[in-house]
Amino acid sequence: MAQMKQGEDFLTKDKDFVWHSMKPYNPNGTMIAEKAEGAWVTDHEGNRFLDGMAGLWCVNVGYGRTELADAAYEQLKKMAYFPLTQSHTPAIQLAEKLNELLGDEYVIFFSNSGSEANETAFKIARQYHQQMGNHSRYKFISRYRAYHGNTMGSLAATGQAQRKYKYEPLAPGFVHVSPPDSYRSNDQLDSPASELDSVKDIERVMTWELSETIAGVIMEPIITGGGILIPPDNYMMGVKEACEKHGALLIVDEVICGFGRTGKAFGFMNYGVQPDIVTMAKGITSAYLPLSATAVKKEIYEAFKGSEEYEYFRHVNTFGGNPAACALALKNLEIMETEKLFDRSKNLGEQLKERLNTRLLNHPFVGDVRGKGLLIGIELVKDKATKEPLDVGLVNQVIAGCKKKGLIIGKNGATVAGFNNVLTLSPPLSIKEEELDFLFTTVTSELEELVK
Ligand code: PMP
Repeated sequence: MAQMKQGEDFLTKDKDFVWHSMKPYNPNGTMIAEKAEGAWVTDHEGNRFLDGMAGLWCVNVGYGRTELADAAYEQLKKMAYFPLTQSHTPAIQLAEKLNELLGDEYVIFFSNSGSEANETAFKIARQYHQQMGNHSRYKFISRYRAYHGNTMGSLAATGQAQRKYKYEPLAPGFVHVSPPDSYRSNDQLDSPASELDSVKDIERVMTWELSETIAGVIMEPIITGGGILIPPDNYMMGVKEACEKHGALLIVDEVICGFGRTGKAFGFMNYGVQPDIVTMAKGITSAYLPLSATAVKKEIYEAFKGSEEYEYFRHVNTFGGNPAACALALKNLEIMETEKLFDRSKNLGEQLKERLNTRLLNHPFVGDVRGKGLLIGIELVKDKATKEPLDVGLVNQVIAGCKKKGLIIGKNGATVAGFNNVLTLSPPLSIKEEELDFLFTTVTSELEELVK
């Protein structure tokens, strides 16, 4: 175990040796975490913080679950590795369990990260259409503001500004449309699908790009990283119907929404839609070990058995579905069931949203409080009438104030020009009610500080 030596200067060493993937979320600078238990993380100087962002890294069952560590340890001792070009028992058991949760017949391809799960989905979708004799279908439609990963294909699907920096050209064949945004557009939460501009936009793009070139649509049930955008209730069904009409597959990215975050096993279950392909990642193991999966409807999988020429899916990875991660995932899903964490997320999320709405109703900067389950966004604006985003400096001030009081929260909406203004609250689903009270009181009092 890593031990801090007397006087060891981790901050300087961090600067010298560690290349961070993003600027640290916290405007106070880098937090160096050392241990964690339940909903709490302790830094290298012994300061404790409630992790109100755990949901974005998907530590859904909370930290320090020794059952999970034990499950991985036992599996490592029994059999540390075997490739899935053959098979092994933990992967089979996990694939069966995921099937049960998904509510229909799916075949599971395992990988290591959300980005990879999405890459896998794109390759499966393209090959599927080829198998079916549709040689012109290669394009994917995705939404601005959505995040789907960091690899050339998943970044091409991403609709945030980071794909525009220094990395183009990305994988070709990705077309973006506007996201559903019931706060800033005419799309209302209860409108029928036929009246939603965001659905009409997808239909229009399918027609303009020519239906026969579209392989699929990729979407998160709720856009998370782009600002917790809760879609109208009928949006997803509208997209599914458009896919069916135009022969495209619906790929649903459950990397954050999956495994209880939105109050159901998977986010799509809030909208009565059964996707063709479902991608999932960190939540499978509550982020204890890397593992991801691409779940593919049985009939799509069956098409791969069609002909000599296309018999195989020519895609392999070494660590995907490794035995220890699968064993840990099975235990993680068992804990979620035993502790009824999906329902807990739904109920606690509803209560928190209601309390926030009541307390912040007259706050001049709080434009919108929205969420599903324990995934809640507070959109901060300069002016409730114009909805102009609040300056990021003030948003950061709230985040920094919370950190000083021992609470980690973050912001989203990120990397869309000018939009970095949605505070994100997503604690572990196992959070205790008194801890949620602390989160509520801290965030609301810091927001009130802004206007004192
Ligand atoms: N899809 C979504 C919705 C995500 O939020 C993320 C990352 N948070 C990814 C895909 C990519 O996952 P990973 O970082 O494991 O590659």
